[in-house]
Formats: sequence, C-alpha cells, structure tokens
Amino acid sequence: MTRRPNVVIVISLVLAGAILAIAIWLLAQMREDALRRAQDAAQNVSLLVQRDVARNLELYDLSLQAVVAGLKQPGVMALPPAIRQLVLFDGAATARDMGSVLVLDEAGNTIFDSRSVVPRHLNGADRDYFKVQRDSPDVGLYVSRPFVSRLNREGVRIALSRRISHPDGSFAGVVVGTLRLEYFQRLFDGMNLGNGGSMALMLTDGTLLMRRPYDAKIIGINLTGTPNYTRFTLQDSGEFFGTAAIDGVERWYAFRHIEHFPLLTDVAISTRDIYASWRHRAWIIGSLIGALDLTLIALAVLFSQQLRRRQEVEEALRVLARTDGLTGLNNRRTFEERAQEAWLLMQRSGRPLSMLLIDVDNFKGFNDLYGHSAGDDALVAVARCIDVNARRPGDVAARYGGEEFVTLLPDTDGSGAAQIAEQIRSAVQALELRHVASAHHVLTVSIGIACTGTHAFGSYREFVNAADTALYEAKDAGRNRSLSYPVAARAESPGMVTQPGR
Ligand code: GH3
Ligand code: MG
Ligand code: MG
Repeated sequence: MTRRPNVVIVISLVLAGAILAIAIWLLAQMREDALRRAQDAAQNVSLLVQRDVARNLELYDLSLQAVVAGLKQPGVMALPPAIRQLVLFDGAATARDMGSVLVLDEAGNTIFDSRSVVPRHLNGADRDYFKVQRDSPDVGLYVSRPFVSRLNREGVRIALSRRISHPDGSFAGVVVGTLRLEYFQRLFDGMNLGNGGSMALMLTDGTLLMRRPYDAKIIGINLTGTPNYTRFTLQDSGEFFGTAAIDGVERWYAFRHIEHFPLLTDVAISTRDIYASWRHRAWIIGSLIGALDLTLIALAVLFSQQLRRRQEVEEALRVLARTDGLTGLNNRRTFEERAQEAWLLMQRSGRPLSMLLIDVDNFKGFNDLYGHSAGDDALVAVARCIDVNARRPGDVAARYGGEEFVTLLPDTDGSGAAQIAEQIRSAVQALELRHVASAHHVLTVSIGIACTGTHAFGSYREFVNAADTALYEAKDAGRNRSLSYPVAARAESPGMVTQPGR
C-alpha cells in the first residue's frame, strides 16, 4: 500500500472516472438499442399496413376488373337481370368495409348496382373518379379523394374506379366501388405504437386519408409542402427523425409507398416514447454510479487524511527522538551518529573537521542563586546562541548533557573554529544574564576547541578528548574564554579566577 496520501486520492479519482466511463458507455449502448428497437417496430408496422392495404385494394380492383370484363361479354347483357347481377358482381365486393359497386354510363347515371337489381338513382358525373376516367383513357385504377356517399350518408369513403370503353376505345362509363375510411382506422388502431405514436395513410398527391390519432377534421386535408410529406415523396421508402406539421411532436418516421397504388403510409414513434424506459433506467443507473463514485472518493479522502495524520505523528515522534526536549537542539544520541559520519567523511576527504565543547560557567551556582527553572531558561538561551552561530550546512549543534553543549563544524579549520567559538562565547556574555557569583557578573561559557587541521588525531575518541582538554584549560584559565587544543603553555595570569575547575 502506498504511503503517499495524494496517490490514494488520485487512484480513487481514476477508479471513479473509469466506473463513470463504463456507465456512460453502457447507457449510450442502451440508448442506441432503444432507438434500434423503435426503428424495427416502425418498420414492421409500416410493412404490415402496406401489405394489408395492398392486398385488400388488389382484391377490390380484381372485382372491378371482373365487372369490366363481364360487361364486355356479349351474352351477359342478354341475361335476365337477376342472373346478370350474380355474374357481374362477385363476392369480393361485399366485404365489410366495401360499399356497393356501381356501373355508371357515359353521362354518369347508374345503370347497374351491386346492391340492387333495379339500380338506385345516382349520378356521379361530378365526382373525380368519373371525370378522371372520362378525360383520359389510360388511368387504369383510380383512387379518389375522400367524400361522403350520396346513397347512404354513413362515413367518409374513397372510391376506386376503372374505365369502361366502347369497342372503338371511346368512353362508355366507369365501374366504381367505394371503401369506408373506417377500414384504415381499424387497421391503424390494431397496431401497437406507444402513446405518442402516429400513423397516416395519404394519397401520393398529399391528400390525407386517415391518421392515428384520429381527428375527423384533418381527413382530406392536403399535406403538400410540409417537411415530412416532402421527404415522403423523395423515395419509395425510408426512415428519418421528423416533426409532424399536425401536432408538432418529434418522432422517428418509417414511410413507404404502397406498391401499385397511388398511396403512401407512414408509421412514427415519438422520440419521447423511444427513450422513456431508457431515461428511467439511465436515472437509476446514473444515480447509483454517482453515489458509488462519491462514496469511493469520500473513503479515499478519509483514508488519505488518516494516512497524513499518521505520517505527521510519526514525523513528530521522529523529531522528538532526535532532539533535546529542553533546548530543541540535537540530543546526544543524534550527535554521536552525525559525529561518526562527519569523522568518516573527514578521513575520506581530508578536509578539516572542528569540534567545540561548550560548558556553562559556574552553573551550579546559578541554579543555587536563581532557581532550577531560571537555570533551565538560561540553558535555552545559551542553546540559542550556539544554534544561531553554527548554521552552515553540515554544522551540528547538540546538547551533550547537563549544561554542556557540543558543536561539530565540518570543513572548518582551526582559525574558523576559534572564530565561531568566540562568537558563541561573546553572544552568551551579551545575553547579560545576571550571575552575581561569577567573576564576570553575568552568565558565561567556556569553550574547548579541537581541529583535525591543527593536530593529527588517531581516533575520534582522541579528538573528543582533545576538545575536553582544551575546555578544561579554558576553565582553568579563568572561564569565559575559548581555547584551542593543543593549548600553548601559559604564564600564570594574575587575574586568574580561582573557582574550582572541572
Ligand atoms: P564550572 O564552571 O566548573 O563548569 O562549574 P559548574 O557549576 O557549571 O559545574 P558543575 O558540573 O559542578 O555543575 C553543573 C550543574 O549544572 C549541576 C546541575 O545542577 C546543573 N544542571 C545540569 N543540567 C541542568 C538542567 O537541565 N537544568 C538546570 N537548571 N541545571 C542543570
Ligand atoms: Mg559541566
Ligand atoms: Mg559548568
């Protein structure tokens, strides 16, 4: 496990990101699937509608053609009316939504009627199914615009008509059959399209014959010019996202022209329906993944905080173990470690290593006079004087024990060490900590100096002992002074302090 608190958070962020990416990818796939399912459904329904409409119209057309053919048979017209009725109008024309089949003469008057041996009175000369056939001989099957029947006013119908020609090709009338639009309505209602779905059947000239949802007012309107209708006319069949001119709803459209008939149908599933269940699932999955990611990150943050706190405690303990509790300087153990390293380094590099042994003068007396607590404060102040004067990289200042301090100065020769010692000594004197029992009236230190550049030492131990000897000499010479080893033989000084030495 990593020891770096930030790495924990980064790992959790990467994991959370990966989980999120996977979720987004899955949701995108699900969305695509939803669209594909809707496309298939629209496609299938439009195919069903096309087949059903084409098959029924074909059957109807066949019975119209049978009437035309029957009329051409020489014997048919000579048959008794009841028999002729049977021969001309076969069973197909009697299906549920089919109206009567009529034969109109060239003036538009009914001459034969599938529902009645004596034809009902009706003139269709003004109807489009009559005029179109009259005005051009090659129309074939004509599908009319929607209209209301004059014979029985029930429901809107369309008519299918075929031309009857004289042997010379001139117009002899039409055979016409009607189909109730209800047939399409029922057909549409039978399909499953979802709440927002729509279907429509229209003539290729844009006339709307039927639409689901059903609205009587829009039957017969012309859709020419609407964006969707324009797209319907471009291809035999196709699919696209579009918005209906009638209700403004966006849907996926599948349209196809009905083969052999001037009709086209479209089936459309609303975008809302397509993605409804996907959206629901996306919300659930999204929230769960979000919660999971947040939990993951929160746990990582908590863990990294714990880790950081533990590291801080460990660091604090490490520092405590290395430093002297009173003065904050290195403790003796740390000093010995650093001194061994410095000694080895000096041996390898040959560069001078110096040591200062610093002892507070008459400190026992200071304690006795001012109290142990004041003594402690004085030691802290002295430590500070030492610390600020041994600040180069590699310098080590430590409390050696009691009121003794030590400073290790790598790369420092005898005169450099003597200079630093003097700085420390004068700094302590400058503290002016009153000490009436001292000859100097303030607290002072004595310093013993040893330097490998001045004298060759056989071992580290000898080196330390040399500094100790110099310190002893400094005490002996009256304190508040620094002396380097080896100490030159000194003349007996008259002002020598006679307090007990070390
Ligand atoms: P000299 O000038 O010869 O060094 O005399 P001295 O009195 O300083 O020497 P000595 O070794 O006789 O006394 C040292 C005293 O330092 C004894 C002890 O009470 C005192 N001392 C040692 N450690 C501490 C400390 O942490 N706090 C205080 N207040 N006093 C301490
Ligand atoms: Mg001492
Ligand atoms: Mg002392």
